[in-house]
Amino acid sequence: KNESTVSITVVGASGDLAKKKIFPALFALYYEDCLPKHFTVFGYARSKMTDAELRNMVSKTLTCRIDKRENCSEKMDQFLKRCFYHSGQYDSQENFTELDKKLKEHEGGRLSNRLFYLSIPPNIFIDAVKCASTSASSANGWTRVIVEKPFGRDSESSAALTKSLKQYLDEEQIFRIDHYLGKELVENLSVLRFSNLIFEPLWSRQYIRNVQLIFSEDFGTEGRGGYFDHYGIIRDIMQNHLLQILALFAMETPVSLDAEDIRNEKVKVLRSMRPIRLEDVVIGQYKSHIKGGITYPAYTDDKTVPKDSLTPTFAAAALFIDNARWDGVPFLMKAGKALHNKRIRVQFRHVPGNLYNRNFGTDLDRGTNELVIRVQPDEAIYLKINNKVPGLGMRLDHSNLNLHYAARYSKEIPDAYERLLLDAIEGERRLFIRSDELDAAWSLFTPVLKELEEKRLFLSTIHMVVGDLLGLTIFQQDTTSDGETLG
Ligand code: NAP
Repeated sequence: KNESTVSITVVGASGDLAKKKIFPALFALYYEDCLPKHFTVFGYARSKMTDAELRNMVSKTLTCRIDKRENCSEKMDQFLKRCFYHSGQYDSQENFTELDKKLKEHEGGRLSNRLFYLSIPPNIFIDAVKCASTSASSANGWTRVIVEKPFGRDSESSAALTKSLKQYLDEEQIFRIDHYLGKELVENLSVLRFSNLIFEPLWSRQYIRNVQLIFSEDFGTEGRGGYFDHYGIIRDIMQNHLLQILALFAMETPVSLDAEDIRNEKVKVLRSMRPIRLEDVVIGQYKSHIKGGITYPAYTDDKTVPKDSLTPTFAAAALFIDNARWDGVPFLMKAGKALHNKRIRVQFRHVPGNLYNRNFGTDLDRGTNELVIRVQPDEAIYLKINNKVPGLGMRLDHSNLNLHYAARYSKEIPDAYERLLLDAIEGERRLFIRSDELDAAWSLFTPVLKELEEKRLFLSTIHMVVGDLLGLTIFQQDTTSDGETLG
């Protein structure tokens, strides 16, 4: 094993994602001794840079975990010595052949495995895949390619992308990354459900009233609106991150923890879902507002966003799974920029004939049991239960049985990109999206996206009508006991 080598090429190394996530994650893996003995990291992009300049750029992005400060700068130096750079075009066979030559020099005749991380805009994915696979594939080991979202804009463009990728790669070489699947608490979802007797029997329409998947970023586009404006929040967050979590949450028990068994179950649940109807969606766009004396700009104040943009930065939708387990249970998704909160909230049904109903006063929702998985930040899993307030008389309260990660574990939680990069190196596909999963996901969202875009001029009217008639009605009923509303 020690005589094989892994070469990791970050294509688009000069970009935002490479600096923010990929190089720091590779360093964290190195520090944790998770990378093979022989490995090399290559940056590839059009920008002109020397190895030293790349190392300087990368060094500014590296950090050590709070609990791992020992030898940190020494480790950083050792890691940076393994980083190199090659400047080239994304559609140049010649430039990728030069890269291949450099990779071979570093591989030193060992069995070579190669991982290409495509951290580039989607319009150049295929050029880069073509050149990497034909001119820089490993001659004697594996070659794998990590592809970043967006995987198309709708069913047709996604199918076209898959078809083009498969001209140059087999499905098993393609690692479609959804970094949400690498998050600690999303990984924990299956453990919680399948290894605790108290949850699995409750995991159905009999006991669950609704499931809420809430994702919001507490920042806006901040000068990076070009990409976002073309996609909008439904494509950027719902069709991938939230739907992936939904599939993991709602799938039947897989035969085993093998990637294909899990992905088979995810596809089954996605294919049991109804495509989303326009009347089950509410959309919006953030406006300028003042908080704590600070003025926050509106979405359309961003210079990279057209002034007349109607791209939704907020969406809420009700999704339904037409199978025996989930018939009639709304899965409520809410996603927005410039908001707070990232969590999964499961609301259980009311206790039938609850003896203590009158002790809750008029607000029946106060007694709702809830399981909340706070994905990020401040990771936690808590179960809301009812209890008696100590003292004379009978007054009920609700409290949390709380697994608060920071209190329970002193370790810093690894970034999702670390887990996913390590999985790709080890050939573990469980957390990556298979092409049939992607097709099923797009077929749920494509019709409503098309309808929204065709009726572009009437969006605000639709927003109001839908909100009044359906969306908000559903969400109001499912207002949570601590006052968080979905509508
Ligand atoms: P980026 O900074 O815009 O682009 C990465 C690199 O690609 C740039 O440094 C540039 O390198 C090259 N490039 C940019 N525009 C190009 C063009 N029109 N033609 C040819 N080359 C171009 O992108 P990113 O934010 O790092 O994201 C990379 C990929 O990850 C994208 O697919 C994005 O959708 C996805 N993604 C990003 C994030 C994030 O947080 N940034 C999160 C999730 C997914 P050179 O000019 O040096 O060649």
